[in-house]
Amino acid sequence: MRKRILLLEDEQAIADTLLYALQSEGFEVQHVRLAGQALDEFRAQPPDLAILDVGVPDGSGFDVCRAIRKTSEMPIVFLTARHEEIDRVLGLELGADDYVVKPFSPREVCARVRAILRRSAAAVVAPSTPAPQGSLLQLDEAAQRITCGGEFLPLTRYEFQLLATLLRRPERIFSRVELMDLVWGGALDTSDRTVDAHVKLLRAKLRARGVQAELIQTHRNMGYSIRVAD
Ligand code: CA
Repeated sequence: MRKRILLLEDEQAIADTLLYALQSEGFEVQHVRLAGQALDEFRAQPPDLAILDVGVPDGSGFDVCRAIRKTSEMPIVFLTARHEEIDRVLGLELGADDYVVKPFSPREVCARVRAILRRSAAAVVAPSTPAPQGSLLQLDEAAQRITCGGEFLPLTRYEFQLLATLLRRPERIFSRVELMDLVWGGALDTSDRTVDAHVKLLRAKLRARGVQAELIQTHRNMGYSIRVAD
């Protein structure tokens, strides 16, 4: 089945070269010029991947990304024009999968898109991977439970969601904002401290199970990730 791509880009010339390149590779592309249109399109028919220009007349690709991330982990690639934008993308504050800096070659964009779609297809085929053999923590998506050293780990709803989110993408750093979106999904009373408090609770539960290694890693000014090696 043809993969659908949502392209947000307000400059027609850039959009045209990307449309041509992506369509030549067999992708179905929905092109919009405004952030509002991108969100309408995303809600009407969620694509397989979104390419978002950062600077658009009615807002920014960052806002679109944030809104999408409330309900979806769909791959997102940013088209950035300036260095200060790149810094924000690299900070992973926004949960982007990749970025391309203008001016770029359409072929490069296509190659990135293909690579990301391959990765996410692998993740769909095996949702409870990629925990390697012997990993202490195992996420069982079907049963909605996590085991530690083969034994069921009792967790509250949000503890489970938080740990599951980290386990689905080992070593990937999630910012507190992303975790609030992904785990608490827009609940009004959450803050950075909610995330920190739950990480603390999880670490205590793991320690109580005799887990010595610090599996949940803190990355200064960036967020949290989970280690599954050893
Ligand atoms: Ca633009």
